[in-house]
Amino acid sequence: MRTISIFGITGSIGQTAANILVEQSNKFIITVITGGDNVAELAKQAIRLSPKYVVIANEAHLYELRSLLMGYNFEISAGRQALMDAASIPVDVSLQAIVGFPGVQCSLIAAKFSKTLALANKESLVCAGPLLQKICTTNNTKLVPVDSEHSAIFQCMLGESILSVERIILTGSGGPFLNTSIENLKHVNSKQAASHPRWSMGQRISIDSASMFNKAMELIETKELFDVSIDKLEVIIQPQSIIHSMIGFNDGSIKAQLGPADMSGAIGYAINFPKRESLLVERLNFAKLRQLDFLPVDQLKFPAINLATRAMNIGGMAGAVFNAAKEQALDLFLIDNIGFLDMAICVEFALNEYELNQIKHNYIFEDIMEQDTHTRVRVKEMAKGL
Ligand code: NDP
Ligand code: MG
Repeated sequence: MRTISIFGITGSIGQTAANILVEQSNKFIITVITGGDNVAELAKQAIRLSPKYVVIANEAHLYELRSLLMGYNFEISAGRQALMDAASIPVDVSLQAIVGFPGVQCSLIAAKFSKTLALANKESLVCAGPLLQKICTTNNTKLVPVDSEHSAIFQCMLGESILSVERIILTGSGGPFLNTSIENLKHVNSKQAASHPRWSMGQRISIDSASMFNKAMELIETKELFDVSIDKLEVIIQPQSIIHSMIGFNDGSIKAQLGPADMSGAIGYAINFPKRESLLVERLNFAKLRQLDFLPVDQLKFPAINLATRAMNIGGMAGAVFNAAKEQALDLFLIDNIGFLDMAICVEFALNEYELNQIKHNYIFEDIMEQDTHTRVRVKEMAKGL
């Protein structure tokens, strides 16, 4: 049996992981589960999974959590520090599924104390890729991606050398606005943007998928994870979301990983790595599927992709700038302060400002935090004029 901690059990990835842990209950002992605000779901999952520790990040919910779990034998705690302490408990596997920048520090700590870090929180690699990789190398921690594209690339890379890789082709579904004109994109709201045609995910990543900021983040994530040069990265729209990503090798051969559009596959693979355990997911039926389509990305409608390339070219903490500006812009879009297309303007503004500074190539996590806060303030100020 392996010990496992799940950070963000109350979210979309977390709940899918919880179902797998119930299905594979003879394989895992649950050490920690954490939530942010959803105290009812956290209590429900605690009763279902019987972890040793239950942590709620928002301290205001501690009393309610304690009363919901009265009579059970869990060690309950609350607050940001409690979350970091929980990440410091040694385990075989940590699944990091907190959304956004708050998950980054948690990944950096969990990377020190876990044998395997199953990483869903893409912000960790985008904002702090070199720091995370260094911690994993120093502590001999296996970093296994959960993001479906990166899980696909990781699986295709097994037995291969990075030196033979000619290109990495990230696939994307195209999101809900694949066929929406740029004119109409100006007026879409957050509810429309959050309704993804293929994947069932949390609200923030769903909207990021609609703007292709998710794919943009994934480009940076790929570079940080596999250490490939920017010119080897490509994006192609694959509307059925069956091909999760591909690698082109120097002999012209292409390896792809395929599966249903269900995160269970990537989560199950990461937490069981290097083993592959059976899962109760849909099996692909090619006769029924009949065709797979491919389309280029419309760069005018989706400027996020070019902005990611720009961030990678700038280097230093440009990934953290990119993420902070995108997260702040998304917050403003969610409260109708800015339009859908304005989000890219916010990110471009933040990158322009950062490029004017002296780019710091040696930085620690505190520098990233400072940069994150600064970028959010600047984007908020600038967005008043939009
Ligand atoms: P959700 O929004 O569904 O869930 C986010 C989780 O993070 C919840 O458990 C939430 O708690 C917790 N959380 C939010 N803010 C904080 C905080 N400040 N401190 C501690 N915990 C917090 O997100 P997803 O599950 O969709 O995504 C999780 C991560 O995985 C993201 O980084 C996303 O980009 C990545 N990912 C997701 C995919 C998907 O299919 N959903 C696919 C690939 C990657 P609560 O709900 O209790 O407030
Ligand atoms: Mg993905």
